[in-house]
Amino acid sequence: MVITSLRAKQPPTPGSPADWRTQLGQIVVEIRTSTGLCGYGVGGGGAAGVHVIETVLRDRLLGCDAEDVESLHRAMCQETVFYGRTGLVVMAISGVDLALWDLRGKARQQSVAELLSDEFDVHRPLPTYMTVFDDEAAQAAMDAGHRAIKLHVERFGDRPDPADIGALVAETRRRLGDDAEIMLDAFARWDLETTLRVADRIAPYQITWLEEPLPPDDLAGYARLVKESPVPIAGGEHEYLAAGFQRLIDARLHAVLQPDVSWCGGLTTLIEIYNLAREAGVRVCPHRGCEPYALPAIAALDPQPLAESPRRWFTCLTGAPAIRNGVIQASCEAGFGVSVAPDLFCTPT
Ligand SMILES: [Mg+2]
Repeated sequence: MVITSLRAKQPPTPGSPADWRTQLGQIVVEIRTSTGLCGYGVGGGGAAGVHVIETVLRDRLLGCDAEDVESLHRAMCQETVFYGRTGLVVMAISGVDLALWDLRGKARQQSVAELLSDEFDVHRPLPTYMTVFDDEAAQAAMDAGHRAIKLHVERFGDRPDPADIGALVAETRRRLGDDAEIMLDAFARWDLETTLRVADRIAPYQITWLEEPLPPDDLAGYARLVKESPVPIAGGEHEYLAAGFQRLIDARLHAVLQPDVSWCGGLTTLIEIYNLAREAGVRVCPHRGCEPYALPAIAALDPQPLAESPRRWFTCLTGAPAIRNGVIQASCEAGFGVSVAPDLFCTPT
């Protein structure tokens, strides 16, 4: 199965936030092969990611056997190591890697979840959680069947008054009852002192995790936080490749790791992260896990599955599994079981 064509495009994302998630947003990667099969993946990096694919990765992969997914992943990382060990380049590699996994599944007539299947029933219903921006939306999510929600608290600013966050969490707990899981996402802009004060304030409300309170590179801050916070700390949404996650695991900086399969290096990297985390006894809970590229790994590899709601503005895929009554199941279709809009590569960006 020789790779004969490789291209990428940033699809329109109506309603996406007016920030890097639009300017450098998701890209769709298409790989065609000599057998007539076509694989699709979603990476990141916007036009810059497309440039990396069309100037570097395409030259490296054309003519290669698409079945050699792991060796092609290594080759892409080697080719870009001097300028791309983190960030945009790895986001672009992620999209290519996912398109290769899609092809592997299609070539073997198996879903990606089935390819990864070992210990768990990959068709099991997976619990989900909804990321929300206020406590009324939290109630709506619970009414829709979710048993877990995550409060995004960016609106309280970079140095929030812990009393304000505490009041929000108290009200959310009162509305949802004792059985619901509640998490907080602090968007990586607090400092250590603020985080510890907030953590003390929310600790009585049985918070499952406090996510990304500090900037990703404040490793010393996370080292203190993990020792002193009464609430478990989650992170890794903006970490890259197995080496990056190995550092987080070795230093025990997070109770929960949250790799994003379309940014961290693709499914090849996500599998490595699951293996590293399992050996270390650390939980993995992938970012936006309900989207079709993370879901197979959660179904097949995760001993404590909890899939995050998808982003509402990413609409260029068809065939993605949907959340029903608070649970979701991985696709049974070959590959990732998704297609892109037929005119995606024909229309100007
Ligand atoms: Mg987050």
